[in-house]
Amino acid sequence: MRVVMRRWLFAADGVLACVAGPLMVLCWGAAPQTRSAVTGPRDFSVFAYDVELRIDRDQRIIGGREEIRLRCAGGRLAAIDFPLNGIKILSVRSERGEELPTVTTNDHLEIRLPVPITHGQEASMLVEYSATQPKGVEFHTDAVYTSFHTCHWMVCRDRPDDKATFTFATTVPDGLTLVASGAPVGGQKPEGTPGRQVWRESVPSPPYLFGFAIGRFSRTVRYHGGVTLEYFAADGDGAKLTQMFADDDRMLDFFVEKAGRPLPRAFYRQVVVEGGAAQEMTSFSVLGRGHLDLRLTDPTEDWLVAHEMAHQFWGNLVTCADWSHFWLNEGLTTFMVAAYKEQRWGRQAYERELGLFRARFQAAVAAKFDVPLTFAGEYPSLRMQRAIVYSKGALFVVRLREVMGERAFWAALGTYTRRFAGGTAVTQDFQRIFAAETNENLSKLFEEWVYGVTASVCTGALMLATAGLLDGKTRHDKLG
Ligand SMILES: [Zn+2]
Repeated sequence: MRVVMRRWLFAADGVLACVAGPLMVLCWGAAPQTRSAVTGPRDFSVFAYDVELRIDRDQRIIGGREEIRLRCAGGRLAAIDFPLNGIKILSVRSERGEELPTVTTNDHLEIRLPVPITHGQEASMLVEYSATQPKGVEFHTDAVYTSFHTCHWMVCRDRPDDKATFTFATTVPDGLTLVASGAPVGGQKPEGTPGRQVWRESVPSPPYLFGFAIGRFSRTVRYHGGVTLEYFAADGDGAKLTQMFADDDRMLDFFVEKAGRPLPRAFYRQVVVEGGAAQEMTSFSVLGRGHLDLRLTDPTEDWLVAHEMAHQFWGNLVTCADWSHFWLNEGLTTFMVAAYKEQRWGRQAYERELGLFRARFQAAVAAKFDVPLTFAGEYPSLRMQRAIVYSKGALFVVRLREVMGERAFWAALGTYTRRFAGGTAVTQDFQRIFAAETNENLSKLFEEWVYGVTASVCTGALMLATAGLLDGKTRHDKLG
């Protein structure tokens, strides 16, 4: 055990190498605007994060050095602001290595730029920090992996519409394997740092999808329809992978057909860990054996694999523009799992899923928390949020399908997916496309399920909604 512990203290006393070159705060003039829909005030947009991490598994500490590159999206920008989420800032520097003035208040970091920038101009800065037991990083005996709360282990903007590229570097101890967002970049290991790896996600993506998994994984590969499907699991799991991922080919075919376009990348990685993990990231997912093992005895228990694969289209490729439209990610994906099951296992399997959605949604109704799908306030619990965003969201899509009929419904889904591929969408975008595909008037349906207040919504929910408008950073959480 001592040997293992020593291995995991990698780079704890090493010198951290910088991913990027010399850092600069520059104004490069007008630059192309992102495709992201902006639904709230946005003074700047980050377009690149470059992060080098030291991971101390035993102490559960993350040490980071990060370059942030951003573009002014408003009229004039003299200072920028990031949530800290408990992250301790060690230094913030300009391109010349000058310390930049910072103010930390209410768990937020404000950085003053040396020179204000105006609309379309760019700036970059280097931040060094540490995070102790950060939310969003799971430290286990044989693996360390991330889950959703990226802005707790690196400095970032927790906005799904702030799509950026991501470069990730860390030192991987002997015997362990790293999977991270994007793909490995070769030839960047500085001398004296054996095991250092650099991965890069070049498809601009929301920060909540940035992540990594390190563990004692063996890699297996299979190919289907031009896509490389990679699996990372502990050695002993090899024989079970075939059962856990038995239908990936037809699952992928189903989602590709309904999306009307191929998987965003020519590869997809699935990492198997102990426990109940269920997290999609850009280009890969982390899946817990707590869910996967059920499939070893019951092949129809395939929701987790289907759910995270579906997210590669709905959530990752087409992303909700802000958290009040999160149902576009999760409700749609939850529905797509039921639709896949219907195609794979028959109508009964579809009805069974719908029964589960109804039961979960009913818990919110019973708690007098039947809020609209675009509810922007705080949820009292993750269970309540899932009851609305996942289950009620899925049931709404089921209802749309019934009202519109098969042809119109699936045509609209394909149009929606292709229209917003690579960008972000709000509920009104979704509604406009679905309404255009049918002669049925969908307004009442949307008002009732998505925007309106149903009879069972309690006053407390409305009060929470109002209060939630003051601060968006804790309005969302997720599982799967
Ligand atoms: Zn999900």
